[in-house]
Amino acid sequence: MNALPAAPVHPQPDAVLISEVGPRDGLQSVQATMPTAHKLLWIDALVAAGLREIEVGSFVPARLLPQMADVAEVVRHALTHSGVTVMALAPNLRGAQAAIAAGVHKVTLPVSASAAHSLANVRKTREAMVDEVRAVAQWRRDMAPGVLVEVGLSTAFGCTLQGQVSEDEVLWLAAQCAEAGADEVGLSDTTGMANPAQVRRLFTHLQAELGTRAGAAHMHNTRGLGLANCLAAYDVGVRTFDASLGGLGGCPYAPGASGNVVTEDLVFMFEAMGIATGVNLDRLMAARQPLQAGLPGEPIYGMTPEAGLPKGWAHGAPSR
Ligand code: ZN
Repeated sequence: MNALPAAPVHPQPDAVLISEVGPRDGLQSVQATMPTAHKLLWIDALVAAGLREIEVGSFVPARLLPQMADVAEVVRHALTHSGVTVMALAPNLRGAQAAIAAGVHKVTLPVSASAAHSLANVRKTREAMVDEVRAVAQWRRDMAPGVLVEVGLSTAFGCTLQGQVSEDEVLWLAAQCAEAGADEVGLSDTTGMANPAQVRRLFTHLQAELGTRAGAAHMHNTRGLGLANCLAAYDVGVRTFDASLGGLGGCPYAPGASGNVVTEDLVFMFEAMGIATGVNLDRLMAARQPLQAGLPGEPIYGMTPEAGLPKGWAHGAPSR
């Protein structure tokens, strides 16, 4: 028998899920408030481009984040699109209850890996946030068992307040969150301090620790390493990536700005490599129009939109 070993049977083993966070991470980082009608048009355009997971807002008191005052209405609109996972951020049980009441498929809770960032950002210790995750997971189990609970570990690669964040503490906290009932725990480079070697190491250990509960990579482009860090995460098995259309969420070059990875550039990288994203790049670039119409004068970014698609790139898919 000279037969070659059978190829492993997986449906699109290399495909990735791009989770668009612009309507949440982006809109809550800019001063201006996008009018509700524009948010809905923007989300429609993102869906039309093929995005299948969208974080549409934050369930936080409107006095703290007026940009998100209409979040329940935005969720209800997003739910009219079938085949799209509608996510929202909630900082606590009360926010998660409101998100689930509005109908989200998935709630994401931010938990700071840095002790200093946790106190500054949510005025709670990391342990208190794990208790919050446990309360949300328990409430979900009793009241809305179909809803997923995700944790994003912010400042997992470094913190502007305390500097280095110990990798052992990141993994300890990720395990605590999973034990508390989170379905997925992802890692966020909130401060744009990550490098590819660190990303490989931490996601490899996260997967060893959590197995299928190891979640998404949320990378920032603050120091120009956003795509390199996404690729490093891909190489060690991460398949879900957060990104923001036009890099909304801060100028990548300004001190202190968040600089989310640009969805257009991330999709271009993966599609050019032959890794399916399910996203049509022409339609994705068209989705910048409703974003800009809703936030006049707000700068948006992206190398691929500026350069255009290369010659031979047909119908938003690479020729191969
Ligand atoms: Zn971000």
